[in-house]
Amino acid sequence: MKLPRIDIDIGKIAHNIQQLKKLYGSKGIQITGVTKVIGGNPLIASILVKKDIKILADSRIENIVKMRKAGVQAKYLLLRTPALSQVEEVVIYTDISLNSELIVLKELSKYAIRNQIIHKVVLMVELGDLREGIMPLEINNTVKEVLLLKGLSLIGIGSNLACFGGIGPDASKMSKLSSIAIHLEKKFKIKLTIISGGNSANYHWFKSSKNVGRINNLRLGESIFLGREALCRKPIPKLFTDIFTLVVEVIESKIKPSKPYGKVFQNANGKIKKFKKKGLMNRAILAIGGQDVDVSGITPRQNIDILGGSSDHIVIDNTKLNLKVGDTVEFDLNYSALLRVLNSSYITKNTINFNECKSVLQSS
Ligand SMILES: *Cc1c(COP(=O)(O)O)cnc(C)c1O
Repeated sequence: MKLPRIDIDIGKIAHNIQQLKKLYGSKGIQITGVTKVIGGNPLIASILVKKDIKILADSRIENIVKMRKAGVQAKYLLLRTPALSQVEEVVIYTDISLNSELIVLKELSKYAIRNQIIHKVVLMVELGDLREGIMPLEINNTVKEVLLLKGLSLIGIGSNLACFGGIGPDASKMSKLSSIAIHLEKKFKIKLTIISGGNSANYHWFKSSKNVGRINNLRLGESIFLGREALCRKPIPKLFTDIFTLVVEVIESKIKPSKPYGKVFQNANGKIKKFKKKGLMNRAILAIGGQDVDVSGITPRQNIDILGGSSDHIVIDNTKLNLKVGDTVEFDLNYSALLRVLNSSYITKNTINFNECKSVLQSS
């Protein structure tokens, strides 16, 4: 099979979903499956659906269109608050969108009416991370206006933390969201069915809370695909953290000096790098680089060290393994590395362990 390649263990994905559903379901929280890291890959998305995930969410409308066209049967939620320039597509291709701007909601309403659709909206509330969200003091006014807009149905509120500012979703943030939900229902005599507390960073809050209040939904990507929470990036018990394996080929293996020699200028990344002089060493080059993967986000499973990379090459310290040309190296990936790899057309996507999964799927 063509290299570089990423092996994707479908059976392990199915297992992680099952475990997360059980965990969060124990306190009444439903999971929305976030597909952006897998670039809306329809095969993987269909595993989520077969494991009974009802809503798939993505930040890119293109990924949602791809999954829809491939026949993946789910409700689709747009994660990134819609741009004014894409409201018509949002209304046509998604069932639900997360929103924070009245001007956008008015346009969504216009196109929903024009297409004779009821588009569902969740209003995002700012709780301190300072990415998307309506300031709590303004939420009354926004809700009042949204309820007047035809073609839209306000189904819930949500929050997103630990993304821009790295602010943790703790008990006080979550009870704030709950109390806003209760307040809005009472004031406007409405029923909010989705109170979406956040993402994979909500794990610690969930574990330490006896009572999750009105929070009944989380939008999970990283926990499903990397088996980790997103505050400290610790593994979640009983989940697989090795679903994805990046396999890369050695294209040069030589004994060379450890310190570059000649006049020093900027390297390919615009940096002036310093090297220690450690004499001759066994070095190798791998056929992958910054345009395929976030080089700082991969960890070798074998005993080698990454010395650096440019757009098409990674240079490694090959002293311990003495790899030869044609040998392969395997890597684990973090979220940003995975995001780029799965969206790179240069990397073969290889799904494995599909049969095992089929039996899992049939038995459920
Ligand atoms: C990406 C994203 C998520 C999922 O985050 P994970 O940490 O991968 O679980 C949830 N909500 C929004 C708004 C997002 O953009």
